[in-house]
Amino acid sequence: VRSFSEAASIPVATVLRAMMGMGIMANINAELAFETAELIATELDLQLMLKETETLEDELISDIEEQEDDPDSLVTRPPIVTFLGHVDHGKTSLLDYLIGINVVSGEAGGITQHIRAYEIDKDGRSVTFVDTPGHEAFTEMRARGANVTDIAVLVIAADDGIMPQTEEAISHAKAAGVPIVVALNKIDLEGVDANRVLSQLTEHQLTPSEWGGEVEVVRTSAISGEGMDELLETLLTIAELNEYKANPDRKALGVCLEAEQQGDRGVLAKLVVQNGTLSVGDVVVCGPTYGRVRAMTNTLTGKPVEHAGPSTPINLMGLESPPGAGDRFHVLSDITQAREIAANRADAESRSSLSGVTTKVSFENFQEM
Ligand code: GDP
Ligand code: MG
Repeated sequence: VRSFSEAASIPVATVLRAMMGMGIMANINAELAFETAELIATELDLQLMLKETETLEDELISDIEEQEDDPDSLVTRPPIVTFLGHVDHGKTSLLDYLIGINVVSGEAGGITQHIRAYEIDKDGRSVTFVDTPGHEAFTEMRARGANVTDIAVLVIAADDGIMPQTEEAISHAKAAGVPIVVALNKIDLEGVDANRVLSQLTEHQLTPSEWGGEVEVVRTSAISGEGMDELLETLLTIAELNEYKANPDRKALGVCLEAEQQGDRGVLAKLVVQNGTLSVGDVVVCGPTYGRVRAMTNTLTGKPVEHAGPSTPINLMGLESPPGAGDRFHVLSDITQAREIAANRADAESRSSLSGVTTKVSFENFQEM
């Protein structure tokens, strides 16, 4: 260990720490097998490299993120609305009704498997809706720094009231700091007691506006369509008050909601553009992958789209491999640079998972001692 430390000009303590990280307890006089020395060298080298690449890339991307938009360049963008709530309370049905299709009946076991995102037009004003399999997806995306939601619609079935997942959804929406609108759903069912749910809401510091509070409660039915116009109007009013803006003239950035490899056809990624405009031919880096936008389609109609502006959900073809849900994407001018950043991130990811394993091993070894 001593000779290795001298030869590599690395302090003995650093060598010992690296060995410990690999699950090897040793001291300065220990004999090192050549293979072990090689491993330690790799381990130390990797740690140094990791630091360098991360900072270079972080700088470039944070420059893009922090690029200020000239106030004159800002235009109103549609609000991005996410449905949250207890399973079976009607999130998917409400979205189905709004877009006039029926996904619920085709779902395996009635459970939403995919994140859906659609832009809906109402008298020339748009709303982008996101329906997730559960609020895990919402939380996961927030954990990755992808706050994709402007307004949360808390869906509560009137016959069931506030349930455990409703409570979780409330805390997620509060943590995200977004306005909450309640869809008091299944209002068509016989004998439902809306007042019971209103008082439950009050107990959760979500006092309905009809009771003098701040929260709009819209009575809805995804079956009869009752309240659907009112829900849309309420969302558009909140959007107007909050003046959500973006700059369509800058290079696009946003979030990947979901992606999959579609056999030979390549990778299909569902993205939401948050700022700027994404165009066919653009170079994109998204999490640990990259590519040139080969084609984009409207998530609702499937029709080809050349340009996607702020708040637009889009299906995109052209990435090398599927990014993860919640990975942010950025448009760069140079494909070589995009490839490098993606490769660095992929490296860093596999390294951190590797070092995760070694840390665990060493911890167990440590306990055994
Ligand atoms: P999700 O798990 O929140 O997405 O809930 P779904 O949209 O899958 O709905 C669960 C069940 O409730 C389905 O059988 C729907 O048909 C039914 N449902 C949804 N909305 C309503 C409604 O407004 N009224 C009634 N009567 N049933 C509804
Ligand atoms: Mg659903």
